[in-house]
Amino acid sequence: MAKKYVAAIDQGTTSTRCMIFDREGNPISSSQMEHEQIYPHPGWVEHDPMEIWSRTQDVIRGALEKGNVDPNDIAAIGITNQRETTVVWDKNTGKPVYNAIVWQCMRTQDFCLEWEKEPGANEKVNQKTGLVISTYFSGPKIKWILDNVPGARERAQKGELLFGNIDTWVIWNLTGGPNGGVHVTDVSNASRTMLMNIKTLQWDEEMLNFLGIPKSMLPEIKPSSHIYGYTVPNGPFRASIPISGDLGDQQAAVFGQVCFNVGEAKNTYGTGNFMLLNIGKTPSLSKSGLLTTVAYGLKEGEAVYALEGSMAITGAAIQWLRDNLRLFDDAADSEWFASKVKDTGGIYFVPAFSGLFAPYWDMRARGCIVGLTRYIRKEHLIRATLECICYQTLDVQRAMEADSGVPLTELKVDGGAVRNNLLMQLQADLLGVPVVRPKVNETTALGAAYAAGLATGFWTSLDELKQNWKVDKRFEPTMSKETRDEMYRGWKKAIERAKGWID
Ligand code: ADP
Repeated sequence: MAKKYVAAIDQGTTSTRCMIFDREGNPISSSQMEHEQIYPHPGWVEHDPMEIWSRTQDVIRGALEKGNVDPNDIAAIGITNQRETTVVWDKNTGKPVYNAIVWQCMRTQDFCLEWEKEPGANEKVNQKTGLVISTYFSGPKIKWILDNVPGARERAQKGELLFGNIDTWVIWNLTGGPNGGVHVTDVSNASRTMLMNIKTLQWDEEMLNFLGIPKSMLPEIKPSSHIYGYTVPNGPFRASIPISGDLGDQQAAVFGQVCFNVGEAKNTYGTGNFMLLNIGKTPSLSKSGLLTTVAYGLKEGEAVYALEGSMAITGAAIQWLRDNLRLFDDAADSEWFASKVKDTGGIYFVPAFSGLFAPYWDMRARGCIVGLTRYIRKEHLIRATLECICYQTLDVQRAMEADSGVPLTELKVDGGAVRNNLLMQLQADLLGVPVVRPKVNETTALGAAYAAGLATGFWTSLDELKQNWKVDKRFEPTMSKETRDEMYRGWKKAIERAKGWID
């Protein structure tokens, strides 16, 4: 009998989710659990990889149970994950040698600042990997573990340790762990390590030597849609099912939003914002502060590339208002408060909590609120926070237009914060183009499911996937160009205040 479903595991920064989709791409069951955020020092962020594996198993069982799904009806499994987050573990015991170092973690700042000073270093990194020198990527995080965990370097050199981003860690465990687990990653995740050559799609010897990372630790690089291995029947799926999709979360959203053509873009509004523009099969480098990254690869040795604007703090700024300033209890209330004022009263909030990412890449920047007068109330600050998400997106959009020469005609959006209608309207107004929200907002999980289903013939073509995409709501711009330009001018001034704060 034909199988009915595809499952996706979305292992994110704050939570892990398992979703099961039918052939039309409708979610039929979902289970989600949070995991602990570990902050050992200011600016450091870790996760416990064993907790992540345990939550992964819980949500798989939860999704099967909630939807009353027979595992034998699942045709394929896709994995998508928080990118760059780094795990190093012992291949014989399956035990991590250290906590996972999360993408936001800034512990490698001193090393990166020194490295950046070397003449030509940033250009070289950019040309080889499409990235820039930043604490954000995996390479320096692996180096930190090898330098700081007693005995790690020796064990790595003896071939006892494995590295993986979270996709690799989850696939290795689902396929048997120390008993035959498959050690793989896909091109989209590998493009975020700072260790893969963006043109050859192979690990780059020079980057590995420079960072002192033994090649034996690294997973094999495979296409994003490919049968990597099978789940073990004594695992949470209770069946042998092909794992056949693997994409970094932002690239999975590109896939789930069916941005398969050159010039199509999506922006995801989560903890951070990530805007990706499909640029086709040539990895052109950015002149405007964007990253060049692999969007997805469907065949061995081939890739479709994207320009990426990564914004570290967007939804996280809303969380900060909620948790640190206690301005409201629920992120969704930000919409109500912001709607109580007609503007921000002239203030700007630059949430450069972990430096500024695209297009500025300033590790020394820190957050600021400027333009304060006694008139300002909490509603103004909340509105300024929504606006700062839009301005960051506008910065990235302008960089994308400068690089590609192609004006954006509309923006597909997804992620937790797009439920905020005021935010979406502000975004359309500030961009001056329509913002389009799809019916299935869980595009990250959907993209991983699509990649998995394509590899096993559950879906047969990209065109078939395009048929599944449906509009929920379209936000049309209504603001005049003069108002928009005037507001944006203030933002650019505020950015200058945030830059270079740390000596
Ligand atoms: P992630 O996958 O990065 O964990 P999600 O896509 O689940 O994030 O989105 C959650 C983020 O969106 C949080 O940072 C939260 O503050 C923000 N958020 C959620 N709902 C709203 C809302 N209605 N308005 C503004 N921000 C929101």
